[in-house]
Amino acid sequence: MRNVSVLTVPAFSDNYLWLIHDGSKAVAVDPGDAGPIMAALDAHKLSLTAILLTHHHADHVGGVEALLRHVNDPNFPVYGPRREEIAGVTVRLGEGDTVEIGAPNLRFDVLDVPGHTSGHIAYVEREQGWLFCGDTLFACGCGRLFEGTPAQMTDSLAKLAALPPETLVYCAHEYTIGNVRFALAAEPGNRVLQERFAAEEEKRAQNKPTVPSTIGLEKHTNPFLRCAEPEILRGLQAAGRLDDSDPVAALAALREWKNGFK
Ligand SMILES: [Zn+2]
Repeated sequence: MRNVSVLTVPAFSDNYLWLIHDGSKAVAVDPGDAGPIMAALDAHKLSLTAILLTHHHADHVGGVEALLRHVNDPNFPVYGPRREEIAGVTVRLGEGDTVEIGAPNLRFDVLDVPGHTSGHIAYVEREQGWLFCGDTLFACGCGRLFEGTPAQMTDSLAKLAALPPETLVYCAHEYTIGNVRFALAAEPGNRVLQERFAAEEEKRAQNKPTVPSTIGLEKHTNPFLRCAEPEILRGLQAAGRLDDSDPVAALAALREWKNGFK
């Protein structure tokens, strides 16, 4: 196992930016704000060797320009989605591509995961068991459908759910408590979900991140990965949100319900 680890860099009100490092070199994932990234690089005596971007939203790419000025290297690699226009990107990626980085020593497989945005990609480091999925899959939730369709999001989430259960899910926001509250409304009888609520509340009470989660925990608790579960379908039908048992319609109905959920 290579000696690389992930630093959590909080930014804005609820974003997580990620720095993957080997103690000397670091890669930033979705640096929406350069300030916290530069402070973390300084604090840990790290130098930045690459940037990975999942989608074009400002809270994921807003720090790129300032970081490029800071590193001041014309050959500095910035990886991003092939199907989105993002300033500063030097290598455009899509499904089936791999990213190899020398220092820190990392290899990512790229997945197309449209839904939140139309060109959204995710990065999987298989040897480490890490998933960087931006705003596609959240701890106990999923991203809003700003550009894609419920069918696209269903396929994207299925792709992520097919990763090994121990895979760590590095999503980009601390939305977990609100997400678990919603999940309990959608599937109140889920015992694993009830236990998760207590565990996540405990972490937040201590001001600890609830991220990363795991694919296994998400499959047991995340309603957006459980659209075929009878309890979820019955609840949506009883509330008049769903006419049939179609999983794509169920995901659309869940997303719609969550958008207005308090
Ligand atoms: Zn976004």
